[in-house]
Amino acid sequence: MPQAVLEKYALIAGQTSKIIIHAPDIARKARPGNFVMLRVTETGERFPLTIADTDHDRGTITLVYLVVGKSTALLERLEAGDELLDLCGPLGKNTAIEKSGTVICVGGGTGIAAMHHLAKGHHQAGNHVIAIIGARSKNLIFFEQELSLFCPELLISTDDGSYGTKGLVTELLIERIKKDPTISEVMAVGPVPMMEAVAKVTKPFGLKTIVSLNSIMIDGVGMCGACRVTVGGETKFTCVDGPEFDGHLVDFTELKQRLRAFREQELISINQMRQIQEAAAAVS
Ligand SMILES: Cc1cc2nc3c(=O)[nH]c(=O)nc-3n(C[C@H](O)[C@H](O)[C@H](O)COP(=O)(O)OP(=O)(O)OC[C@H]3O[C@@H](n4cnc5c(N)ncnc54)[C@H](O)[C@@H]3O)c2cc1C
Repeated sequence: MPQAVLEKYALIAGQTSKIIIHAPDIARKARPGNFVMLRVTETGERFPLTIADTDHDRGTITLVYLVVGKSTALLERLEAGDELLDLCGPLGKNTAIEKSGTVICVGGGTGIAAMHHLAKGHHQAGNHVIAIIGARSKNLIFFEQELSLFCPELLISTDDGSYGTKGLVTELLIERIKKDPTISEVMAVGPVPMMEAVAKVTKPFGLKTIVSLNSIMIDGVGMCGACRVTVGGETKFTCVDGPEFDGHLVDFTELKQRLRAFREQELISINQMRQIQEAAAAVS
């Protein structure tokens, strides 16, 4: 019996796709905050994707990914019924969720997917969840309907003003915090500059702020150290100590530098794949 079969595939926004995978063992154990490591081809790299949702009854997990390079492009080629070569998880610590009152969950770009799972966890714990989501443009916004099922407030911004409020999620966040001094916690998932900006906004308010980091990971289980980050002056491994950390303590400058470490190799890899595709197209 295959362990991880792709059940459904859908393009949900721009180059962002949603896949539902039948993986009962992972679905049963997965909690908000967890991710999986996957491999699509025998010679391919292992790479992490966050579990955006689970269906315990059906034994499925939902992943949402943006096609940015070779591995995500290879994943995009799979079709419903295909088996994933490797799928390992759930990995990472569960989100620390307690009943605390009103929580703001901020999601930017593809980070909206991971934020969805955290927001759902907070809702299930009895918290009042305010969701703030943002993207560059309207066509990149997704999960609006899914979030509105359990978030009594859903605020949307786009950089170009094509949907929701024109501007950044942080502008909506400041307004919302000022309106309500009872907010207990802010969670943010998205591009690193966005999470850094969220942490800057909440700091003067003394508001607990958790960010979910996307450091480059090789094994995802704490052996290689590639995903190390500095948090409060201490070295942490995003895969086993995180991926969620106190946003006020993360060294974002170092994180941004480390995310650029393999830029050259990533470009070579995607160019090689394109050349192979073009050669194959020319032959057929
Ligand atoms: C805990 C965690 C959860 C993540 N969840 C999601 C998610 O739900 N959806 C999503 O679209 N993306 C997610 N990412 C990022 C995703 O892993 C990368 O986009 C993917 O690995 C890119 O691989 P590529 O070969 O397509 O692109 P490449 O051309 O190899 O890389 C493009 C960019 O992706 C990032 N990246 C590359 N390799 C890795 C790696 N092994 N680990 C982490 N980042 C890498 C780097 O920033 C890089 O510059 C997550 C990352 C982490 C660490």
